[in-house]
Amino acid sequence: MCRFDEAWIGVCKADGEPYCEKHLISCVSCGEQATHSCDATGQFCCGQPLCDNCEHTYRSNGCSGGLSFYEPATLPEGLKEHCKKSEQVYLMWMYKDILDNDEYKIIEETDEFVTLEWKTQPLKLSRKQWDTYKNQEVGSGI
Ligand SMILES: [Zn+2]
Ligand SMILES: [Zn+2]
Ligand SMILES: [Zn+2]
Repeated sequence: MCRFDEAWIGVCKADGEPYCEKHLISCVSCGEQATHSCDATGQFCCGQPLCDNCEHTYRSNGCSGGLSFYEPATLPEGLKEHCKKSEQVYLMWMYKDILDNDEYKIIEETDEFVTLEWKTQPLKLSRKQWDTYKNQEVGSGI
């Protein structure tokens, strides 16, 4: 059964192993086999195919952009609408809120990622996002 995860719809489940014909598609960011469609939403839902290592690029205001008529925030230099998770530069606005107001501790640090323990779920940030937060270049939120 196809295990492609469609944003806002769920797992495809059509015939095909591991993906049905329709879902033998490449990640728009890196070209690997896509595993799901992007669930980022503005006024529109993104829906582009992505693999597990990539996601919608956060803009300087901490929102995933390109999905609304009015686009005030800019993409980080050198990045497209989608990027590897390790390439994210800006922090999602919700994470900034969490880091500002909640207790957390660092449970793992690598060259690419910083993983924080927060309530019951770990928050995995790219090192660039972490540095951005530390330097407070997070923009004015939404
Ligand atoms: Zn499918
Ligand atoms: Zn990818
Ligand atoms: Zn997207």
